[in-house]
Amino acid sequence: MKNKKGQLLVISGPSGVGKGTILAAVMEKNKNISFSVSATTRNPRPGEVDGEHYYFVKKEQFFEMVDSKEMLEYAEYSGNYYGTPKKAVEKKLAEGFDVALDIDVQGAFQIMEIFPDALFVFIVPPTIEELSRRLAKRGTEDAESVAKRLNAAKNELKQANKFDYIVVNNALDEAIANVEAIIAAGRCRSERMSDLLESLNKM
Ligand code: 5GP
Repeated sequence: MKNKKGQLLVISGPSGVGKGTILAAVMEKNKNISFSVSATTRNPRPGEVDGEHYYFVKKEQFFEMVDSKEMLEYAEYSGNYYGTPKKAVEKKLAEGFDVALDIDVQGAFQIMEIFPDALFVFIVPPTIEELSRRLAKRGTEDAESVAKRLNAAKNELKQANKFDYIVVNNALDEAIANVEAIIAAGRCRSERMSDLLESLNKM
């Protein structure tokens, strides 16, 4: 158990931009970060594991969680519902872990109201054409879903300026290093150092 409360890291950005890849690499190198597993009503993609990538639930179950205030935030995205279960986030933060949320902009705006001190990072593609290419190449969505996600991306990008940090995912290694630098800077924020400063100032 760590003695200091962890920090919350919110990663948003258009579908297909590489949020998952960046987060996985950052977490591989930083064992103090815990990933918040969201609940969703969408169907699992091949290779996705229930309880690891998402909690795959029926719409009724999802709204039972919403009604019983178990969600920190939730949103509808591209025809499915997604939400962050509250308990696990609060527990990990209290234990001193940093907690990473991979959520859409609607969810990020809800978190801004509850946790204004969280680190809000928006990942952008170098160009829209590149995003379109990555989405198509991923091959997890049919043509209609790709078109829907691209349309959503254009709206999301209009709201990117509300985030604290913008990371361009052009060269993957650079994007990973930038997210790590943001986390490191967050750990050095003076408000997180108040206990240390107090003890130093007593001397
Ligand atoms: P995907 O279906 O590609 O896994 O996710 C679609 C979008 O939903 C992504 O932008 C992802 O960040 C977002 N998302 C995943 N989990 C959550 C969540 O718990 N809450 C919100 N608001 N968005 C989420």
